[in-house]
Amino acid sequence: MKASHRISTLLGGGSDGWEVFLRARQMIADGVPVTELTIGEHDIRTAAPILQDMHRAALDGHTGYAAIPGVAALRDAVAARVSERTGVPTTRDNVMITPGGQSALFAAHMAVIDPGDTALYIDPYYATYPGTLRGASAVPKAVAARAEDAFQPRAADIAAAAPGARSLMINTPNNPTGVVYSRATLEGIAKVCQDNDLWLISDEVYDTQIWEGAHLSPRALPGMADRTLVCGSMSKSHAMTGSRIGWVIGPEEIVAHLINLATHTTYGVPGFIQDAALFALELGPGFEAEIAEPFRRRRALAQGILAQHNAVTAVPSAGAMYLMLDVSATGLSGEGFANALLDTHHIAVMPGESFGHAAAGHIRVAMTIADPEFEAALSTLCGFAQELTTRSAQH
Ligand code: PMP
Repeated sequence: MKASHRISTLLGGGSDGWEVFLRARQMIADGVPVTELTIGEHDIRTAAPILQDMHRAALDGHTGYAAIPGVAALRDAVAARVSERTGVPTTRDNVMITPGGQSALFAAHMAVIDPGDTALYIDPYYATYPGTLRGASAVPKAVAARAEDAFQPRAADIAAAAPGARSLMINTPNNPTGVVYSRATLEGIAKVCQDNDLWLISDEVYDTQIWEGAHLSPRALPGMADRTLVCGSMSKSHAMTGSRIGWVIGPEEIVAHLINLATHTTYGVPGFIQDAALFALELGPGFEAEIAEPFRRRRALAQGILAQHNAVTAVPSAGAMYLMLDVSATGLSGEGFANALLDTHHIAVMPGESFGHAAAGHIRVAMTIADPEFEAALSTLCGFAQELTTRSAQH
């Protein structure tokens, strides 16, 4: 029996960019010690008080079917958090609770895309994006942000791709680059969306990880609240990756449709998880800053190390738990460098090419291990890049 075209073409047939990661995992399974700077997961687990609240909620009986749009108190808390941070009036009717940000991205596209519609997204991109778009029956179309612009996408490049498209997905703070889109970038994007009648899907799962400046949600720009769907998550902000809890924020009519979608797909998020999420949100911005702090600290450590090496150049970033490093001076592609680093020093990083064409010649380093090991691994990486660069200059 044949699987559907939709599901069998989900990955688009190309390299899915996970080879280095999978090879590192195999080495670990074979007993080789590998330093992993690959995936975006904290090196701490969900805080005990959140888990205790989850336990309490379950014992209190919140184990049956929960309200499909999300429990009212959690929707209210998310709406209040969004209103406070962005200044855009937001109520529970603008909020749909989802099992994580990934499902929010899929639901958002299901809400605005008809089969065969073109959905734009920015390259470099979070690795799941093209598959998520295909899953929603869209035709994905990448718009390259340029390394020479520090990966801030140009409005003119998006405008050139926009005719006939239905939506644009952006992500700031950005995975994989760590770049935080400037106000000018976001205003340019807002204008392109308005000129071309595009929905804007704004992936803001890293909104608490900003090391310089402030997070600006494009939903807060004039005229954008009616055409923007914000996808949020507590995975990164509260170290709750395994709890699968996130949301879509959007116009009421779209949220009503999303509730219908959830009724026929996820049937909601477990009640005890939602209760614990509410508890976690009520811990406030101080707790969120604590969760973000290790990445802020490691970024500062990395800047110190990178300043002493010139074979590796960091993309000027201001957020998220990643560093994007240009290793093209070594003469290798990102993938070539990542493979050589894994073989020679047993350090695993993600090749830039895993995130699209625009980040070729780069690698992404996740700042997700303890400080001393992180410093040591980054120093080794920089030294290795230096050796390769010297060698390539001699040839
Ligand atoms: N968007 C981006 C940019 C991400 O990096 C991730 C997770 N790595 C997600 C969405 C999805 O996160 P989750 O489903 O855990 O909320």
